[in-house]
Amino acid sequence: MRAVRSWKRGLAAASVAVFAACATAPSGRPKERGPFLAADLVEIVKLDPTIHLDVRYATSNNFTGRPVYGQARAFLQRPAADALVRVNRSLREKGYGLLVFDGYRPWSVTKLFWEITAPDKREKGFVADPAKGSKHNRGAAVDLSMYDLSTGREVAMPSTYDEFSDRASPDYKGGTDDERARRDLLRAEMEKEGFTVDPGEWWHFNYRGWEHYPILDIPFEKIRGQTTVSRNSAA
Ligand SMILES: [Zn+2]
Repeated sequence: MRAVRSWKRGLAAASVAVFAACATAPSGRPKERGPFLAADLVEIVKLDPTIHLDVRYATSNNFTGRPVYGQARAFLQRPAADALVRVNRSLREKGYGLLVFDGYRPWSVTKLFWEITAPDKREKGFVADPAKGSKHNRGAAVDLSMYDLSTGREVAMPSTYDEFSDRASPDYKGGTDDERARRDLLRAEMEKEGFTVDPGEWWHFNYRGWEHYPILDIPFEKIRGQTTVSRNSAA
């Protein structure tokens, strides 16, 4: 309920944010009817520096083979970022920390992914259709895995990140027992805090209420940090 009240409170500010976003929209970006919450993108590691980053899209080590972000940073809408901090805290007791690959993603990057992805992979849902946008564009989806607290190294999962195969499914029955156990632990901890796993990608989670945020196309370099919406939706 608190999330709903907060959402209503944010409406006035939201309309301003949406108009501002539309003014700079590149052609083709989906036009949606609001009202939307104002964007309140926060940098995840500023809330909890023990959450590690491996922003592959800022390097050549991603499925496009080239950097598509100018900066290796990860942002989420504040309630989602707060929830992620709670997940990280809970995992710490079990010997793990969160390793974030991607959070908010500007819409123009989603468009690029679509353009360079083969049609059969598009059909399998590995990339979002830019005509609809991605929940990453709303700052309400995160791609992540875990690292081992004792070594600092990424743990093995049944597939690698952004592996466009059946092994990426959160229900894939192959791999080792340990790999599946870690994948399932990550999912359980995320679900406790309001995230839902993507049916085709164990690493991708959407945050509840994602539909209240607009599709954005703000580059990382222009995100100033903390904005003004109430923190109450982080309950
Ligand atoms: Zn994702």
